[in-house]
Amino acid sequence: MFESLSERLGGVFERLTKQGALTEDDVATALREVRVALLEADVSLPVARDFVKRVQEKATGQGVTKSVTPGQQVVKIVHDELVTVLRGEGPADALKIDNPPATILMVGLQGSGKTTTTAKLAKRLSEKQGKRVLMASLDTNRPAAMEQLQILGAQIGVDTLPIVKGETAVQIAKRAKTQGSMGGYDVIMLDTAGRLHIDEVLMDEVQAVRDLAQPRETLLVVDGLTGQDAVNVAAEFDGKVGISGVVLTRMDGDGRGGAALSMRAVTGKPIRFVGLGEKMDALETFEPDRIAGRILG
Ligand code: GDP
Repeated sequence: MFESLSERLGGVFERLTKQGALTEDDVATALREVRVALLEADVSLPVARDFVKRVQEKATGQGVTKSVTPGQQVVKIVHDELVTVLRGEGPADALKIDNPPATILMVGLQGSGKTTTTAKLAKRLSEKQGKRVLMASLDTNRPAAMEQLQILGAQIGVDTLPIVKGETAVQIAKRAKTQGSMGGYDVIMLDTAGRLHIDEVLMDEVQAVRDLAQPRETLLVVDGLTGQDAVNVAAEFDGKVGISGVVLTRMDGDGRGGAALSMRAVTGKPIRFVGLGEKMDALETFEPDRIAGRILG
C-alpha cells in the first residue's frame, strides 16, 4: 500500500534535501508537488488542500529556509502532518469490549470483506486477548454467507451461533444475545447482511439490529481499493447507523492509499484495522506513525 505515493514524495523530497539552501519559493514548489501527489493517490481535494496549507504554515512559522537542514525540516513537518491526518486530534482508543458480553456490529457493503474480517477479528480477540467470542451471521438473504461464517469459525476455532432457517436478522441477533449471556461469552460479533448499494432496506435492517443489540462497537468494513468511494460509504453509514470505527480491507492490493488518508478528516472516525490479505492472520491494527514512516520511506 502507498507505493506510488511514497515514490512520488520520495522524488520531491530527494530534490529538496539535496539542494541545501532553500528559498520560500522552493518550498512552495515542493508543496505544490506534494499536493498533486496526494490528489493522484485519490486523497479528497479539501483534505489535500488543508494538508499542504498546514505544512506551509508550519514551515513558515519555524523559519525552515533559515535553518541548516531546511529539506529535512520540511520532511519532518510533512511526517508529523501525515500522522495527524491519519490519527485525528484525539488519543488512539482501544476497542470497547469490556463488560461482557460486548457486542461488535459489523456493517458494510457486500463484497467489502465483511465476513472475512469478522472472522479475522474474532481470531485476533480470541488468540491475542483470550476472549471467548461468539459469531453470528445475520445475512438471511444469502444462506451461503451464513455457511461461510460457520466454515471460517470451525477453521479458526471460534464458536458460531447455530443456523436456524426462517429467522429474521433481528431474531438472530436476539438469539445471539441470549446465547452470548448464557454461554459466558466475552464478545458477540454480529455479521450483518451486505448489499450491493446502500439502500433503505439495508439501512432499516441495520438500524433495527443496532437498536436491539446495543453494540459497544459498530465497525464499518470497506474496500480500501475504492479510494474516495470508501470514504463516501463511511460517511453515509455513519449518518444512518452511527459507526465507531472503520476497517479498510484489501490494503495489500495496489490501492493508492487515498481512503486511508481522507477517512479520518472527512468522517471523523478512526481506522481501527487494515486487511492485508485473504488469510485469517492478515489483519493489522492501524498505526499512523508506522504508516507515515512507510509513506516517507
Ligand atoms: P463480504 O461479502 O463483505 O462478506 O465479503 P467476503 O468476506 O466474503 O470477502 C470477499 C472476498 O474478499 C473474499 O475472497 C475475501 O477473501 C477477500 N478479502 C477480504 N479481505 C481481504 C483483504 O484484506 N485483502 C485481500 N486481498 N482480499 C480480501
